[in-house]
Amino acid sequence: MTISRFIPPRRTLMGPGPSDVSPRVLQALAQPTIGHLDPLFVGMMDEVKSLLQYAFQTENAFTIAVSAPGSAGMETCFVNLVEPGETVIVCRNGVFGDRMRENVERCGAKAVMVDDDWGKPVDPAKVEQALLDNPEASIVAFVHAETSTGALSDAKTLSELARKHGCLTIVDAVTSLGGVPLLVDEWQLDAVYSGSQKCLSCVPGLSPVTFSPRSVEKMQKRSGKVQSWFLDQSLVLGYWSGEGKRSYHHTAPVNSLYALHESLLMLKEEGIENAWQRHRDMHELLKAELESLGIQFLVEAEHRLPQLNAVAVPEGIDEAAVRSTLLNDYNLEIGAGLGALAGKAWRIGLMGYAAKRENVALCAKALKDVLS
Ligand SMILES: *Cc1c(COP(=O)(O)O)cnc(C)c1O
Repeated sequence: MTISRFIPPRRTLMGPGPSDVSPRVLQALAQPTIGHLDPLFVGMMDEVKSLLQYAFQTENAFTIAVSAPGSAGMETCFVNLVEPGETVIVCRNGVFGDRMRENVERCGAKAVMVDDDWGKPVDPAKVEQALLDNPEASIVAFVHAETSTGALSDAKTLSELARKHGCLTIVDAVTSLGGVPLLVDEWQLDAVYSGSQKCLSCVPGLSPVTFSPRSVEKMQKRSGKVQSWFLDQSLVLGYWSGEGKRSYHHTAPVNSLYALHESLLMLKEEGIENAWQRHRDMHELLKAELESLGIQFLVEAEHRLPQLNAVAVPEGIDEAAVRSTLLNDYNLEIGAGLGALAGKAWRIGLMGYAAKRENVALCAKALKDVLS
C-alpha cells in the first residue's frame, strides 16, 4: 500500500456540524505556529476571551475555550459543578439530554429526568414539578438547541424556574451560540458550553464555556477535588488568566485558537443580531423550497431551530441512498436522523458561514433532482 498526501474534496457542509469553514478562518489556521506562552499569543487569547464574551452576551470574567470539542465543554461543566450525592434535574428531549444524564451519574450524583418527546421543546411545567418534588436539587441541566431533533427550548423561562428554586443551570448551547439569541447575562444562565464547529463555523476541536460568578463560587466551595485533572477549571484558570504570570497547564492548540479568533471576529464584524437574522432568513428560504417539494418539518414552527432543519423523509424514499447521492454527485453533506429518528429524518444544517443563499439553492436543486 502506498500512502500519499490526503487532499480532501471541497464539500458544502449542511449537516449537524461541522459546518462550512470560511476561507478567512482556514487562512488564519495556516499561519505560523508560535509558542503558547509567547506574549503575542497570550495577548491574542485575551482577545479570544473578549470576543467570546460578546458571542455569549456576557460579562462573566470566566469565559474561555476548552481545548477539546463540545463534549468536553459539557463534561467541564458537570465535573466542576456537580459533587457526589447531589441531585440534578436533567431535561431530556433528544440525544444530548441523555449525555447530560451520563455525566451526572459519572459524577456520583443523582439525575432526576424530565422527559419530553423528541422534536418537542423542554416543558417548563414538568421542570417546575420536578423542582417541587426534589427540593434537594441543586442544578437544572438542559439543552438550549437540540441538534438531534431541531427543537429550541425556552432557556430564559427554564433559568427563571431554576433560580426560583435555588438551583444553578447548566446549559448546552453548542448549536445555539451564534445562530439564535442566547443572552447569558440577561437570562442569568450559570454554566454554558458550546462548540467551535456549529454556528461559529470554526474548525472542530474547541469548546467555548462561560461561568457566572454564582457558579464559580460553587466550584470554589467544593468539598472534594474534581475527578478530572485535565478539565479541573481551578487549574486551567491559571493559564487563561493571571496578569502576566500565566502558568503552563497544557499546550494550547495554538493554530486552532487563531481560527477561533478569526471566526469570532467575523461574528463581531457582522453583528450578532444580524447573524441571528441571517439564520432566520435562510431558514425561511429553505423552508419554502422544501415545502414546495412536499417535505414536512418535524418540529412545530414556533420551536424550530433555523440553523438545524429536521424534516421527515418522504414515504418510500431510501434516505441513506439520497444522502449518498448528494455527497457523491453534489459534494453536499446533509445529516441523517439520530437515535429515535434514525432512518426517518434528514437534518439540514444552515450553520454560520453555511447559512447563505447559494447553499439553500444548491440543497433545494440537489434534493429536487434526486427525489424526482
Ligand atoms: C454537536 C453537539 C454536542 C457535542 O459537540 P462535539 O463538538 O461533537 O463534541 C453537544 N451538544 C449538542 C447540542 C451538539 O449539537
